[in-house]
Amino acid sequence: MKVLVGSFTTESNSKTPYKTTIADYDIAFGQKLIDVMEIESAYQSEDVEIIPGVYANANAASVIEKDTFLYIESLLLKKIAEHLHELDGIYLHLHGASYVDEIGSGDHHILREIRKITGPYVPIAVSCDPHGNLTKEYAESIQILRSYRESPHTDAMDTRRYVSKLLCQLIKNRQNIHSVYRKIPLILGGEQSVSADEPVKSINRFMDDMEKDSRIMSASWHVGYLRHDCPEAGCGIIVVPATEEDQQYCEKKADELAQYVWDKRHEFHYTGLTAQPDEALTMALEFEDKPFVITDSGDNTTSGATGWNTYVLRQFMNVEHLNKTVLFGSIKDEEVYKKLQNLSKGEQLHVSLGADKDKLSIPVEMDVEVISHSPIYISHGEVLIGTKGHGVLVHVLGTTIDIIVADQTARVTNESQFESFGINWKNYDITVLKQGYIFPDFKHGSKGYVMSLTDGATPQDTKHIPFKLIMRPMYPIDEI
Ligand SMILES: [Zn+2]
Repeated sequence: MKVLVGSFTTESNSKTPYKTTIADYDIAFGQKLIDVMEIESAYQSEDVEIIPGVYANANAASVIEKDTFLYIESLLLKKIAEHLHELDGIYLHLHGASYVDEIGSGDHHILREIRKITGPYVPIAVSCDPHGNLTKEYAESIQILRSYRESPHTDAMDTRRYVSKLLCQLIKNRQNIHSVYRKIPLILGGEQSVSADEPVKSINRFMDDMEKDSRIMSASWHVGYLRHDCPEAGCGIIVVPATEEDQQYCEKKADELAQYVWDKRHEFHYTGLTAQPDEALTMALEFEDKPFVITDSGDNTTSGATGWNTYVLRQFMNVEHLNKTVLFGSIKDEEVYKKLQNLSKGEQLHVSLGADKDKLSIPVEMDVEVISHSPIYISHGEVLIGTKGHGVLVHVLGTTIDIIVADQTARVTNESQFESFGINWKNYDITVLKQGYIFPDFKHGSKGYVMSLTDGATPQDTKHIPFKLIMRPMYPIDEI
């Protein structure tokens, strides 16, 4: 038996002032695709052969150029058409939060185009990020659809293998089933739906219990994605029946799960401490232990922001008699990076750090000394899966501040990304990260942390984002 495997990941933040192009993608084919998706063991144990399709990952990015998207999509469609005569199923990892110029959701477009080739019955299983947008049409065109439970996504790779196994089992025991979807008129940010916290913890428990029922193959809840305006936005739930006979039963269970989530809408809240930027700065400066972490939530590069805001840097540069050591991981400035990239450790230079693209990336004049160079590693959960771009760690002369200057948007979510620069972030009093909710390494490794409610491409005040295309009424924009 043979399953074609592919992956497309792009989170399109429409506030990011440039387009995502082909150069922004990590692309893999063949064995490299199988390795990077970490799914081989699932198929081996079921004795199913993998046909590698296309893997394309731009991670948290911006709106995708139409030609770029159509090119990537065509590679996948071509593979499917080529192997159609021997395929028993298709497994895709589709993040769910892409947006393409003139097209809209790329994920949804891919599925529609695949169904034009395969027709409705070839089993398709999709694993996805809960921060993606779904629709009834999309869900019903897929036999199996399941998202990660945990946010941050520590169960990402396990979920891919789990969905792969479910697909193999369906292929061996064919059932005419499809996913059941319910849209919930609720729009949430990722920072209000951390899984270590309520109400997500209870929702996950509720779904784990549902999955113990032999009539239910899987149950999942989707937070949705709100960094671009689109009709698909909002929360949803998915229930996958085990057999054709269970389809009706799962319709009923889907209503129950949707109601359960809806009833908890008032319980979603920011996890951990949040504070306005000035207050967050004071908390960090007055914290008596170390290490302390500030997350710069308006410039959250894990949700598509650029990573070039210098607002928090300017806050610290303006502190008189700063006596705490501060590490910025990182600030994107391609031009300054170019000036520093060939300097050796100990060499000094005057730079104007800040991309100067908007009111938040205002440059800061400084003399810096090079400490070290490193590629920027990309991590998925705990695992480092490659590199994207480079950084140079500098010390700002006359201050206690060190900064990683990156040539691209960097997502520092894992402490080993600092180790590659030869430093231990825990030796600093304060570390500033371009994240919203704090990632596990830093949560567990710090003595205190705060999410600074900074301005930027990823603002936290959901209620006041000016949506035009979403379904209404929608809580909390509408009081329902
Ligand atoms: Zn996510």
